[in-house]
Amino acid sequence: MTLIETSTLDVQSLRSDFPILSTKIHGDKPLVYLDNAATTQRPRSVIDVMTTAYEEQYANVHRGIHWLSELSTDLYENARESIQCFINARRSHEIIFTSGTTASINLVARSWGDANVGQGDEILLTEMEHHSNLIPWHQLAQRTGCTIKFVPLTDDGLLVLDALDDLFSERTKLVSVVAVSNVLGTINPLETIIRRAHDAGALVLVDAAQSVPHSVTDVQKLDADFLAFSGHKMLGPSGIGALYGRESLLEAMPPFLGGGSMIHSADLDGFKPADLPAKFEAGTPPIVPALGMAAAVQYLEKVGLEAVHQHEHELTRKAHQVLQQSDEVRLLGPSPSEKAGIVSFVVEGVQANDLAMVLDEQGVAVRAGHHCAMPLHARMGVSASARASFYFYNTLEEVEKLGEALQAALRIFRR
Ligand code: PLP
Repeated sequence: MTLIETSTLDVQSLRSDFPILSTKIHGDKPLVYLDNAATTQRPRSVIDVMTTAYEEQYANVHRGIHWLSELSTDLYENARESIQCFINARRSHEIIFTSGTTASINLVARSWGDANVGQGDEILLTEMEHHSNLIPWHQLAQRTGCTIKFVPLTDDGLLVLDALDDLFSERTKLVSVVAVSNVLGTINPLETIIRRAHDAGALVLVDAAQSVPHSVTDVQKLDADFLAFSGHKMLGPSGIGALYGRESLLEAMPPFLGGGSMIHSADLDGFKPADLPAKFEAGTPPIVPALGMAAAVQYLEKVGLEAVHQHEHELTRKAHQVLQQSDEVRLLGPSPSEKAGIVSFVVEGVQANDLAMVLDEQGVAVRAGHHCAMPLHARMGVSASARASFYFYNTLEEVEKLGEALQAALRIFRR
C-alpha cells in the first residue's frame, strides 16, 4: 500500500487512541474496520470514564440521599448537559436518555403518536428509511388507522422533493425523515424538508443516527421538533441514545413507559407524572453508558466535526474511485458530493454475504444484507448489498485495501 497525504486530521495519532484498531485477524492481517454505520469503536478515554465510574462513582441516580448517589446523579445530569450542548438544544431537559435511536423513535410514535394521530391522519416518511423509522409508524397506523405516505426516490437515491406538494395535505401530522441514509449515504436536505413541513402545519422528527456522529448538528438552527440518535454510533457504548424534543411538545406528551422515577406522586387510584426529563425515563436509566456517551462527545469535540466530515468525504471519494475500477460493481446512491461516508455496492451474480465473507478473509470488515432497509433495497432493485462505512479513524490506505480485496474477491468469483 502506498502512503497518501490526507485532510487536516492526524489520523495515525487518533488511531492510537483506539485499542481495537491495532487488532490482527485471521493470523496476521491488520483489521480494516469499515462497518462504522453499524457501530463505531471506542477510544481509550471513553473506556476509562466507564471503568472509573464502575470502580469509584457508581450508585443509582435520583434516589439516594447518600454521597455516592449524589455523585452519580451529578455525573449523569452533567452527561445530559454535554449532549444538550453537542446538538445545541435550548435546555438540558429537552434531552431524554433512551437506549438508542430505535427507542427514541418508538417513544415519539407511542407517546406523541397515540395522543395526536387519529383515523385518516397522515404520517410522511421516505422510501429510504431504516426499519427503526418505518415499523413504529406501521404500528401506529395499526393502532390508530392513520395513513403512511412516502417521499419517492430517484434512481440515484435522492429524495424527489418535487413530490412534496402532492404529498402534504391538511391531514399531515408528522414528517419523519432520516438525515443520512444508512445504505445510500445520501445527505438529505433537512432544512428544506423541515420548512416545508412546518408550512404545512406538520411536525418533523429527524432520524439522526448516521448524521450526529459525523457532522455538526444544531437543533435550533434546523428547527427540528424531534431528533433521535445512538451513542454506539458515535464512539460511545451501546444501550444508550437520546431523544431531543422541543420543550413544549415534550411537556404536552404523556409518559410512555410507567414505573419508578417517572412519577411526581402515586396512590392507589393513579399517578401524577414527574417533570421533564424524568417523565420519560422510567426505571433505572443507563447510568454509566450515559457517562460513556458524554465522554464520546468530549472526544468528538476535540477532534472537530468539520474535520471529521471533510476526512470522511475524502474517504468516500476514494472508495468510489477504487470500487468503480470494475464494471461488475454497481454503487448504490448518489455521487460522493451528495453523500456521507457510506458506500453500498452490489456485484452482478455474487451474493453480498459471499462477498463480505471473502473480504473478511483479507481483513476487511464490511456489512452485507439489507441493513434494516428492505423497502429501500427493493426500490433499488436488489435484495441485499455490501456496505463499507467510514469514520474519521479510517485511512485512505484502508480504502485502497478494500479495493484490492474486492479485486481479489472478483478473481475468485470469476473462476
Ligand atoms: N436509523 C438509522 C439510519 C440507522 O442507521 C440505525 C442503525 O443502524 C438506526 C436508526 C437504529 O439505531 P439503533 O439500533 O442504535 O437503535
